[in-house]
Amino acid sequence: MRGIEVKTGVGTKSATSTSVELADGSIIPTRTIVATIGNGPNQLVAALGLDMHWGRIKTDRFMRVPGHEGLWAVGDAAEIPLVEQPAEDPLHYAPQTAQFAVREGRQLAHNLMAKTKETELKPFAYTSKGSLASLGMSKAVAEVYGVKLSGWLAWLLWRGFYLSFLPGFAAKLRVLVNWVLNLFVPPNIVLVESTLPGTRYIHYRTGDKVLEPGMLIDGFYTVVKGALKLTIDNPKTGEHFEKLFGPGEHFGERVLLKSALRTGLVMALEDSIVLWISQKDFTRLARAFPVLDNYFRDYIESTFGGAEKSFAPGSANHQAELETLP
Ligand SMILES: Cc1cc2nc3c(=O)[nH]c(=O)nc-3n(C[C@H](O)[C@H](O)[C@H](O)COP(=O)(O)OP(=O)(O)OC[C@H]3O[C@@H](n4cnc5c(N)ncnc54)[C@H](O)[C@@H]3O)c2cc1C
Repeated sequence: MRGIEVKTGVGTKSATSTSVELADGSIIPTRTIVATIGNGPNQLVAALGLDMHWGRIKTDRFMRVPGHEGLWAVGDAAEIPLVEQPAEDPLHYAPQTAQFAVREGRQLAHNLMAKTKETELKPFAYTSKGSLASLGMSKAVAEVYGVKLSGWLAWLLWRGFYLSFLPGFAAKLRVLVNWVLNLFVPPNIVLVESTLPGTRYIHYRTGDKVLEPGMLIDGFYTVVKGALKLTIDNPKTGEHFEKLFGPGEHFGERVLLKSALRTGLVMALEDSIVLWISQKDFTRLARAFPVLDNYFRDYIESTFGGAEKSFAPGSANHQAELETLP
């Protein structure tokens, strides 16, 4: 099926920047992860210390949190029963969908007014009108009031439904015009701007290869937690170099002096977290703070025997180009 393998009945246990571990212990090596939906409780909600079930705050049918006068819960964070005596059955509770969240919000507003006016509260009750899912490429599947649709018609319905939910006339018009235009003149992808932050924490699992010979030099790494090992081999001269890095230690500083390709292999010896600083930001910092620059040059001299030491045979490394100051 279009080169896609679908795995059912198994969740994701953890992910690092080079692999994904599934709940059954199998590991999928990858540097690209596309997550489509989160299914864990919001951190703030989980920290409230309320009675939770399936990661959601337990409520009664009126969306009140039992035992906490004046506290109500709705939406994804709430587990609202749809029947009087709910069992351990997801169908007995409001599902975590926008369709339900919007209705719950309306019903909650009604109940809050009723509480103030000391009139009768209404239990939450709503039957889904159906479901819609876009498949991309102007195709979708839909089931509306029991009628099943697929293809272009379902896609049109999906778009109409989402358009109706956009707040305000201006937003609706802007999106509609954009969609119609895209039908006739699809957008040209000529520039994809990178909005990646200049620093980020990266997780590695034991055995993950952090850097490999031949990879482009991209930044500077400081170990925050764990242990990693650098190995550089030069088969031509037989030179072998090894170094261990623990918390507070760093690697990749040679980006200050050289550019082009990595010559060594860095591997995680245990589950580790490193702070990555982009090459551009790191060179800027070192350039602006001579103390930093001096520290790294001394470090390279004492650790690697100097900046000119390339270790790898036929290394294409060359002097890094400095950016023009503003
Ligand atoms: C990828 C994806 C696709 C989905 N597709 C569909 C779909 O096709 N149809 C459908 O019906 N449902 C869909 N859902 C589910 C739907 O989005 C949710 O059920 C719905 O948004 C729940 O509404 P909510 O108000 O409870 O939570 P949310 O819409 O998540 O709103 C919670 C808000 O609280 C804010 N917040 C979080 N923490 C804090 C904090 N500490 N302080 C202040 N603000 C905070 C968040 O930024 C957010 O704005 C999808 C969900 C995802 C993730």
